[in-house]
Amino acid sequence: MDFNLTTTDAERKFRFELGVFLDQELTTEICRQHSMDLGLGKEAREFALKLGKTGWLGRGWPERYGGSGGTVIDEYILVQEFARREAFVPNIVARFMCGPVMLRHGSEDMKSEFLPRIAGGEIEFSLGYTEPSSGSDLASMRMRAVDDGDSFVISGQKTFNTQSHFADYHWLAVRTDPDAPRHRGISLFVVDQRATGITISPIDTLGGERTNEVFYDEVRVPKTRLVGELNKGFYYMAEALGYERLMLFQSIRLVPSLNRIIAHTKVTSRGGDLLCNNPYVRRHLAQMATEIKVAQAMEDRAFALLKNGKPLDHEASLLKLFGSAMRQRFADHALDILGPTGRLENNASGDPLGGEIAKLAKMVVIDTIGGGTSEILKTVVATRGMGLPR
Ligand SMILES: Cc1cc2nc3c(=O)[nH]c(=O)nc-3n(C[C@H](O)[C@H](O)[C@H](O)COP(=O)(O)OP(=O)(O)OC[C@H]3O[C@@H](n4cnc5c(N)ncnc54)[C@H](O)[C@@H]3O)c2cc1C
Repeated sequence: MDFNLTTTDAERKFRFELGVFLDQELTTEICRQHSMDLGLGKEAREFALKLGKTGWLGRGWPERYGGSGGTVIDEYILVQEFARREAFVPNIVARFMCGPVMLRHGSEDMKSEFLPRIAGGEIEFSLGYTEPSSGSDLASMRMRAVDDGDSFVISGQKTFNTQSHFADYHWLAVRTDPDAPRHRGISLFVVDQRATGITISPIDTLGGERTNEVFYDEVRVPKTRLVGELNKGFYYMAEALGYERLMLFQSIRLVPSLNRIIAHTKVTSRGGDLLCNNPYVRRHLAQMATEIKVAQAMEDRAFALLKNGKPLDHEASLLKLFGSAMRQRFADHALDILGPTGRLENNASGDPLGGEIAKLAKMVVIDTIGGGTSEILKTVVATRGMGLPR
């Protein structure tokens, strides 16, 4: 199942040492806190700090910003080794979406203030892009920041900001020039998520994950918290979305689940025969395994491009498009295999595999929406990838 891209001794050593650490430190409770997005409980917070102390969370970043050197392949190893164990890299928004953009475009002061704390596992960010009437078309966002001397004063509303109830900082995109062309009047800020004037209210989702509406009422944000240049925020946001699409879906995350389903078919009978002998079940399993391998090959290819210094451009969209739909098909195949009781969860009696597939089937609904819907990604692939007219 594992197409190992790692070629250098240093990368292999990193994978091994990280694996040993994770096998010792990752508990079921920490994995549960990661996957249920419960705001990171005490155990997961402590684990993040412990990982931060090893320097591995900042792997791939320069040492002066709290990193421990290494390559982009080390970053890939980091997400893969967590996914293989059904956990998530702690503070993943800060580490893989905001941090890389800050590293490329942030002021020296901003990099020194935030990157070491991200690499140390100390702080998490929440993405503040979507508004009630601005989702896919982010360039239409209306929330405003008004220049007021040393600060900007920000008012308006964001919605579906998933980590805001526990994040330390808001990675906020707002309009700073209402008269400029739509894409050129947006700026990105780092805002204290608990600043005076911010109200956060929950939105519960089908998948059990909490997301939030976030309201700003004349929130004062110092100019030092502007990311990069004024009015370039849309382009930085696009860059962060590229990282998000690349890092979010590690197909290896499904392998343990596939293995549990296979084991289940070997001990469970239906109609007088074991499920594993049923041609219908076998076809489903073969399809699931094939699609995981295809997604893994696509992930390896994307990282091979990066390693060779090539731009990713539409490749991250392609990966997210396939990976997200693949996870939904995986859940559908699994439900077909398990039969009607596969939909039972929450320890209902008779739920196969402890209700994990029923839960998965609800959690993957968001996959083809968040980080860019499949319809939008198909347009990106068609235009940027295939050169079709806009
Ligand atoms: C659980 C959850 C968590 C989220 N977390 C975050 C977060 O942390 N931070 C954040 O900023 N946002 C977050 N989002 C928001 C998410 O990114 C948006 O929901 C997504 O971008 C779609 O925007 P929308 O909901 O406004 O739908 P719309 O943009 O209104 O789209 C509605 C439908 O129309 C289709 N559509 C729209 N435009 C086109 C077009 N040009 N061509 C073809 N089809 C089109 C879409 O594909 C979709 O099917 C989250 C959303 C959810 C549901």
